[in-house]
Amino acid sequence: MRKEIKINNELSAGKDFLVIAGPCSVESYEQTLEIATAVKEAGANILRGGAFKPRTSPNSFQGLGEEGVKILARVGKDLSMPIITEIPSEKYIDLFCEYVDIIQVGARNMDNYYLLKELGKTKKPILLKRGMSATLEELVLAAKYITMGGNENVILCERGIRTFEHQTRNTFDISAVLALRKMTELPVFVDPSHAAGTWEMVEGLSLAGLAVGADGLMVEVHHDPDHALSDGAQSLKPKRFKKMMEKITYLKPHLTKVNKNEDNNGKL
Ligand code: PEP
Ligand code: MN
Repeated sequence: MRKEIKINNELSAGKDFLVIAGPCSVESYEQTLEIATAVKEAGANILRGGAFKPRTSPNSFQGLGEEGVKILARVGKDLSMPIITEIPSEKYIDLFCEYVDIIQVGARNMDNYYLLKELGKTKKPILLKRGMSATLEELVLAAKYITMGGNENVILCERGIRTFEHQTRNTFDISAVLALRKMTELPVFVDPSHAAGTWEMVEGLSLAGLAVGADGLMVEVHHDPDHALSDGAQSLKPKRFKKMMEKITYLKPHLTKVNKNEDNNGKL
């Protein structure tokens, strides 16, 4: 049985197939509003946008910080969309509990056990991303640091792992979805954007995630990827995102049936 995690009065992860979309980084109110309006219109359920950006280079844009969280919250309110953004450290838990609907723990923080323990004391849904070189067992144990503290609202997210292959930014471990479904009852999302590193592959990998039974998707979208302050190369333009959403809407009922049949087969 999949655990259902209530996001708001209408949405539950593990029940509905949920799509999280938005820019890699919150750059301004106008930029966030423009992208949010487009992804909502295309059918996305939850708005993403990074405010505290964990960048490989300290010279890269580091995000708008607290101001970025507040901008995202304002846009979320204006459009009636729940929001998700990444928490950099336990120092910001009060801020995130006030403004954010889902707290994202990034790949670089998956094994920050002090942060995870503190998040376990909150009631907020947490989206926990797989570390770049974490095994699935390590991911599940990281989730336990949160659930053992009393917060059972954890969503796992496969976002690609580091391997010897360089044609993609990370290697999208599609089998992680099936393996995690055996290992845990927590909902499992996929983030094809950070796996692919290039927008051309995002649609194919998203549909693969849906086909294999993921409970949701996280996709980066930008109206002007060439000038995005982070991850422009892997961001879908709104029109491409809309086309992908049309395919998802068409395929969803068929694939849900396939997955249900498989469950029945398991009982034979
Ligand atoms: C992100 O979602 O913007 C992000 C930084 O992802 P990850 O932690 O998977 O690298
Ligand atoms: Mn990104």
